[in-house]
Amino acid sequence: MSQVGSWVNNKWSWKAEWRHSLIAWEVEEEAHLMSIFEDTVLCLGVMGKWVWKFDESSGYSISSAYSRLRLVEDGTYDSIYEVFWSLKALPSSMTTAWRVLVDRLPTRVNLEKIGIVMESSMCVLCGEEEESGSHVFFTCKVAWKVWSMCSKWIEEAFVYHWDACSHFNQFYLGWASQKINKYWRCMWIAVIGEIWKQEKFIIFKNCRVDCLLIFTLGQLKVWFWLTSRVNDVSFTYARWCLDPVFFVF
Ligand SMILES: [Zn+2]
Repeated sequence: MSQVGSWVNNKWSWKAEWRHSLIAWEVEEEAHLMSIFEDTVLCLGVMGKWVWKFDESSGYSISSAYSRLRLVEDGTYDSIYEVFWSLKALPSSMTTAWRVLVDRLPTRVNLEKIGIVMESSMCVLCGEEEESGSHVFFTCKVAWKVWSMCSKWIEEAFVYHWDACSHFNQFYLGWASQKINKYWRCMWIAVIGEIWKQEKFIIFKNCRVDCLLIFTLGQLKVWFWLTSRVNDVSFTYARWCLDPVFFVF
């Protein structure tokens, strides 16, 4: 604490020191941060403690943090989070997909926003547009081709939106039960993860874009998740690839 301020006449005075000179938008961020700090009154001689302000009586719990995450700005719960977190994909893949839904993945556009200077902000997959989250996962011609393969495979046409939450909501089989859609939407999570992995392989391993590989690895992942994580699901990988809707009947 002594590195970020000092007591002046029994009153705590914040003083942040940064490792580099702040650029314009960081100065604004610093002012915002200080305005948050200044709301907190520190008392000399009184021990500090952690407080979970969203539930001060019971303190922090995973369920209260989860409730907080589901809360949208107008104070209501967004059902998309409930649907999303009920899926049976692997937690690491869920996390990547979740970060796409809230636009928190380090895409080139997001890295530039936080002041990281990039050689280029163009999409690694197509090289034609800036690499924002909505571009690389949804409007990029590479992503578009992979989503089209999903449509062809399940023999269902979807309206593919540029916005992540709308895209996830549209990735839904209108004729199928909630249970089947829970299985089907794992494919959304798998494709998102494989697109992101492919982007990294191109940067770090100089690989070439391969839409079929992204799609095939997505199929394989979902088959593995369902057969290993859902009790009443058991089918061969070959059957899953050749006839993905057989388990509906
Ligand atoms: Zn692209």
